[in-house]
Amino acid sequence: MSHHDEHLSENVSIVQPPVNFFKKRPDGLEPYIKSFEEYQTLYQQSIREPNKFYSEQAREHLTWFKDFDIAKWPEHGFENSWFVNGELNASYNCVDRHAFKNPDKPAIIYEGDEPGTGRTVTYGELLELTCRAAQILINIGIKKGDTVAVYLPMVPETIATIMAINRIGAIHSVVFAGFSATALRDRINDAKSTVVFTADQSVRGGRAVETKRIVDQAIKECPQVKNVVVFKRTGDKSVPFDPKIDLWWHEEIIKYKPYVPPVAVNSEDPLYLLYTSGSTGKPKGLVHTTAGYLVNAVISAKYVFDIHPEDTVFTAADIGWVLGHTYVAYAPLAIGATTVMYEGTPVYPTPTRFWDIIDDYKCTQFYVAPTALRLLKRAGDHHIAPYDLSTLRALGTVGEPIAPDVWEWYYETISRKKASILDTFWQTETGGPVLGPLAGVTPLKPGSCSFPFFGVECAILDPQSGEELTGNEVEGILAFKTSWPSIARTVWKDYNRYLETYFKPFPGYFFTGDGAARDKDGFFWILGRVDDVVNVSGHRLSTAEIEAAILENPAVAESAAVGIPNDLTGQAVISFVSLKAGVTPEQIEKTKLEMRMTVRKEIGPFAAPKEIFIVDDLPKTRSGKIMRRILRKILVGEEDQLGDVSTLSNPQCVDDLINLVKTTY
Ligand code: ATP
Ligand code: MG
Repeated sequence: MSHHDEHLSENVSIVQPPVNFFKKRPDGLEPYIKSFEEYQTLYQQSIREPNKFYSEQAREHLTWFKDFDIAKWPEHGFENSWFVNGELNASYNCVDRHAFKNPDKPAIIYEGDEPGTGRTVTYGELLELTCRAAQILINIGIKKGDTVAVYLPMVPETIATIMAINRIGAIHSVVFAGFSATALRDRINDAKSTVVFTADQSVRGGRAVETKRIVDQAIKECPQVKNVVVFKRTGDKSVPFDPKIDLWWHEEIIKYKPYVPPVAVNSEDPLYLLYTSGSTGKPKGLVHTTAGYLVNAVISAKYVFDIHPEDTVFTAADIGWVLGHTYVAYAPLAIGATTVMYEGTPVYPTPTRFWDIIDDYKCTQFYVAPTALRLLKRAGDHHIAPYDLSTLRALGTVGEPIAPDVWEWYYETISRKKASILDTFWQTETGGPVLGPLAGVTPLKPGSCSFPFFGVECAILDPQSGEELTGNEVEGILAFKTSWPSIARTVWKDYNRYLETYFKPFPGYFFTGDGAARDKDGFFWILGRVDDVVNVSGHRLSTAEIEAAILENPAVAESAAVGIPNDLTGQAVISFVSLKAGVTPEQIEKTKLEMRMTVRKEIGPFAAPKEIFIVDDLPKTRSGKIMRRILRKILVGEEDQLGDVSTLSNPQCVDDLINLVKTTY
């Protein structure tokens, strides 16, 4: 075992799930799973007898118009169909069946960007909105199997739109409404969408975004687009409107009946396509199917997050990401719970918004990316103290490794040691968590995403030989040996690229692109993307670990490590670090020294960064991931080859970085 996974596991002790978990329900509800042993038994069943396991789950949780013949066919390999010959409709499962039983129950709590604005949408109202929107689609000629682009902010109409699209058997392609016109254009054209749903403007952090103008710009180069349906968010009079193409949402929906029946689709019919966030290159439109995706959404929500129909789920993620698809929209609604849809940022007008929302709506589950947690931790705990967060039972993170100190803070300060911290590993490709603890039952280690979820058999592969490394205390490439219901079935209209990307690199395995370690106790640790591995004098180092060591320094807010070519050592480590507010210039040199010492001590002398750049901001994707690729290119003087930076949340920091590197290095 190499030095660095010792750093990851041996210093870290196991945190037992909070005992209070089982006492927390005032309504006396019992958790779905009562012990870790029960998880292990069910897990074994999900792998050994997938047909039995998934048949039961699927029949229990979804309403089928026509029952399926078999849950998984064939039982082996990766080219499986799930819930074969079944027929169902996603909007029926997420909306109708709850609306009929309980029309006045809140489906969506919409919290607007400005505090005190927003509204609650009941299941009855959501059904009506969905049905009316479905008739807009029918009226403009959208048919089963067509794709519809959705470029909308976080408002309830966005959920109604995606439900309307799946109600008629069409396929939604949601594009994050912060993406540029170029990124939107490419996605509309790749999917050949003929209709775009959007808003006049969006509002985030107190500022208006010219959403409709961006769409107009994009569709100049999308000849197939016939109509744009515009939801009036702000009513700004200057927003361009072309009556030949554009339709107002509010004028359209009143033309139609409050109910239209859902279309029965086949289990394997596509539900949506979604482009990966693009941290590494040309985005891929991953295709998710109706039944498999929905079954997995429900069972992960149920077992990982312990979501009951009585719960209020707050996933602070945009609907433009897979997390938003599954945990803002599909999973909470399929269960019949209440979902909180927050339009704004974590810090506008103050860094108290999340805590305020949790307190006001008595949220029971909270799910967010580590980047937001770092920001809020940095803002200071006085923002949290006034709020009652005691209703929370499960606190999730996803999207990046969570540094142990942020994990501890989440556990101590937010959960107050009473809720389970769930570090879940997913990809756009996986449709739901594939590794992650189960709330209340799985023992935890800060920084580890613990164990595989049902149906997912993990393997750690030797990067050179491709052989599986069995047993514990191994490190290599994370791959999967089996498929599960919500694995993406193809890249949109490019099955070959799907095979090339995921199945060719290591035959017989699904290749994740991430490095991972399994420690002495069998816990999994994600070590970052394989292309984020730095090789110094033959030592394979994960950037995530170097970053974690640097983040231990109390002065550090964020850090990124990359490898660049070095004559002597093959590669050398370079770190970029942003500091917390209040660190004085005099303290900087001392802090740099401390950071180097920590890395030397915890990982090894070879891992110590050759250079540490102190920066204001690190380049990040809109979903909050640090784009190390950009840092690498800048360091090697290839700033002309940065690719499309329009998908960055802070493109302005790129020029600052180029200048800094040029002047000091
Ligand atoms: P692209 O594939 O286009 O480069 P992307 O991989 O960033 O984009 P996503 O599918 O949104 O797009 O992100 C999945 C990736 O996020 C994983 O492959 C992994 O690198 C990272 N990730 C997700 N969850 C975790 C987690 N809990 N711990 C560590 N890393 C995680
Ligand atoms: Mg990816």
